[in-house]
Amino acid sequence: MAQLDTRQKLEILADAAKYDASCASSGTAKRNSQGGKGIGSTEGMGICHAYAPDGRCISLLKILLTNSCIFDCHYCINRKSSNVRRARFTAKEVVDLTLAFYKRNYIEGLFLSSGIIGSSNYTMEQLVEVARSLREDHDFRGYIHLKTIPDADPELIEAAGLHADRVSINVELPTTPGLKRLAPDKSIARIEGAMGDMKTSILDAHDATKRYKSAPRYAPAGQSTQMIVGADAATDSDIVLRARGLYDAFGMRRVYYSAFSPIPDASAVLPLKRPPLMREHRLYQSDWLMRFYGFDAKEVMSATDDGMLPLDIDPKLAWALKFREHFPVDINRAPKAMLLRVPGLGTRAVDRILVSRRHRRLDLADVGRLTVSIRKLRPFIVANDWRPLQLSDKADIRELVAPRAEQMELFAA
Ligand code: SF4
Repeated sequence: MAQLDTRQKLEILADAAKYDASCASSGTAKRNSQGGKGIGSTEGMGICHAYAPDGRCISLLKILLTNSCIFDCHYCINRKSSNVRRARFTAKEVVDLTLAFYKRNYIEGLFLSSGIIGSSNYTMEQLVEVARSLREDHDFRGYIHLKTIPDADPELIEAAGLHADRVSINVELPTTPGLKRLAPDKSIARIEGAMGDMKTSILDAHDATKRYKSAPRYAPAGQSTQMIVGADAATDSDIVLRARGLYDAFGMRRVYYSAFSPIPDASAVLPLKRPPLMREHRLYQSDWLMRFYGFDAKEVMSATDDGMLPLDIDPKLAWALKFREHFPVDINRAPKAMLLRVPGLGTRAVDRILVSRRHRRLDLADVGRLTVSIRKLRPFIVANDWRPLQLSDKADIRELVAPRAEQMELFAA
């Protein structure tokens, strides 16, 4: 590997990390360094411009320890057979860089992943060493997200949670055949085994903190994972079902969806075109339906056509149009669970409606004041002074409520 200075390494290793979507810093414990204690904070508005040209994850220094890898996952630009410039940081270089960026207020924390060098255990040791040194040697109190290597020894993966706010283990592909075909060195049993161990460690630590005040924190922002969308034949229904399974079996805090991007010198088994970015967006919306709107996976799947969510309308609207018999919903009487099913009503608007209707019956204009737009809602609700035609009588309802096509989407494919 050619001798590179820190700036050159940063250029290569920040660029190589941009394909990872799973780096939101939500949900961690509050820590700060007020009163001269330690350094860093998980709160506040750190100024941050990270190294992802696609705009993702701008508040963290998001880098790889190295982009060399002994594995050969077809979809990955860092795979063994890829013809890219390689670079490698030492653990100390990453620590120094994080502290320097933090002190300049460029970042709020660190997102660290790595290709596999030497062995899975050696790589995992290096990742843990970065987090340990930041916490123990420098009393760093900012946010740390560590990507873990499922093939490493369970003790090493467990150690990651002692120092990181969030740990993640990528499931990579939505289906086991997809994983076998595109990431032949990886094993679903090892990935799920590591996720299961992490879940147990997080729950044990949670119990311990309830019983002992002095119990150490352990991955307070939980674990997350990421799936690549569009690199294999998995449908949106496959992805929704897989995501639900991951939430239920492993207590995932988040499942991230990353539209596959064609890479230079791509393997012949990959599609030539990336999927529409709108597909990734619709999957995130379906994820929200399951986590915040009370939909189960089967209901989301029932909104698909041949397993694919429509791209022109959101999945909640697609569901409502397929199951018109549930509408219109009386805004003044319906239970919260039904209000949450109304297209165009978000969780905050539903809460506001529930509070307001305690005092008086709501007219359509009242609902309009509590929501962003009444246009999409009107066919689906009954208000004090409003009753729409039965949805089943309106053949053109989709055209009336679907958002107008934006030019931007012409370029999303
Ligand atoms: S193990 Fe990770 S870094 Fe290595 S080729 Fe596979 S996805 Fe890329």
